[in-house]
Amino acid sequence: MPTFFTEGIVLSRTAVGDTDKSAVIYTDAHGKLTARVRAGQRSTSKLAGSIEPFSTGLFFFAQGRGGHTLTGADLTTTFPRLKSKLLTTASASVIVECVLLLTHEWHADKRVLDIVKSACAFLNQRTLTRGQVMIAEMWALWQLLGHLGIGLNLDVCVRCGKKLDSRKLSISYDQGGTLCASCTESVRGSMPLSSAALKLLRLAGGMALRSIPRIRASAGTITQALKCAHGAYQYQLDQASPALAFRNAVQ
Ligand SMILES: [Zn+2]
Repeated sequence: MPTFFTEGIVLSRTAVGDTDKSAVIYTDAHGKLTARVRAGQRSTSKLAGSIEPFSTGLFFFAQGRGGHTLTGADLTTTFPRLKSKLLTTASASVIVECVLLLTHEWHADKRVLDIVKSACAFLNQRTLTRGQVMIAEMWALWQLLGHLGIGLNLDVCVRCGKKLDSRKLSISYDQGGTLCASCTESVRGSMPLSSAALKLLRLAGGMALRSIPRIRASAGTITQALKCAHGAYQYQLDQASPALAFRNAVQ
């Protein structure tokens, strides 16, 4: 049976039958992979603890006729501080779910792995404000959507092409980005957007994660910008998002 190993991060795991589990891992070498974990539901299973979401390290696979089996794991981190708090767990859950639902199996993309791993490392820090957690979540979603080619255009009015007037703005997922004042009037269902929230979203598209502590934005601005990122993500899904429901419950 051919075997291989690659670096990766666990996105999700579910029970299969009475004893096994199935894990979805985003890997460096092959992108998203689903693998069977034999006896993964047994408390004696050595691998059961390695397939908790966010677990990162080297994963060993065997390629069989019926699919892949996970045969071993050598973890570098499980992000314990991230998982010790509800807010950071919920934020990281949205980020890994975005990768789980919007990427394809066997399509390697280093940047996707980098975004998820660096966001989890940021959320695993000892001291973080609520605002910093929210900006990191927004950063990761915005980076992922942009990288996957389904980001929103925030540069001009996507309907008429004019420069944006900061007095009255909105964002439309249908139209694919920001709308000027007069187009806002004529497009149904667009969401009002403050110029401060627009600035923060634009910043998130271009900045490095380490710049987050230097950002000064009000709680209202951060909330609105994150809501836009959530809306843009939900718009891409053809199903409900359990992670967003969990995230909204811990507001
Ligand atoms: Zn317009």
